[in-house]
Amino acid sequence: MTNAADYFGLAGRPIPEALPEWRGYFEGCKEGRLLIEECASCKHRQFYPRGQCIVCGDATHWLECSGLGSVYTFTTVRMTKAAPFDGIVPYHLAMIELDEGVRMNSALLAPGNLPIRIGMRVKVVFGELANSGVWAAAWEPQSAAAIFGKDAR
Ligand SMILES: [Zn+2]
Repeated sequence: MTNAADYFGLAGRPIPEALPEWRGYFEGCKEGRLLIEECASCKHRQFYPRGQCIVCGDATHWLECSGLGSVYTFTTVRMTKAAPFDGIVPYHLAMIELDEGVRMNSALLAPGNLPIRIGMRVKVVFGELANSGVWAAAWEPQSAAAIFGKDAR
């Protein structure tokens, strides 16, 4: 898998059904905005959405992120029997550390033979999942310099 169109448009992929606390996140993706929760009281930031702060229990609001981060860890899937993803191997799954301090599991869209590395700078990309009306986020290298390790923060 090499590009966002192939990933997001993959026919037959499961489409998430948003729980109430996730609706703001998915609406943000559709608008091209990456949203995480921030506590109104203690300012704790969190992802995935829960609708209340996991530290103090108070209400959260949506915080729009820069859409930039770094690869915290990753794996490359080279073999799977899970359709339709068996048709796009190899692909990367990564935990991204957002510049805003939270971590997010996601696809990392880059050629399977690309030398992905921990610390690589990445940027968010949004797409509609298989013409479903549901939009989601994934990540891709921030620049050519990011791919070749010349992307000092
Ligand atoms: Zn709190």
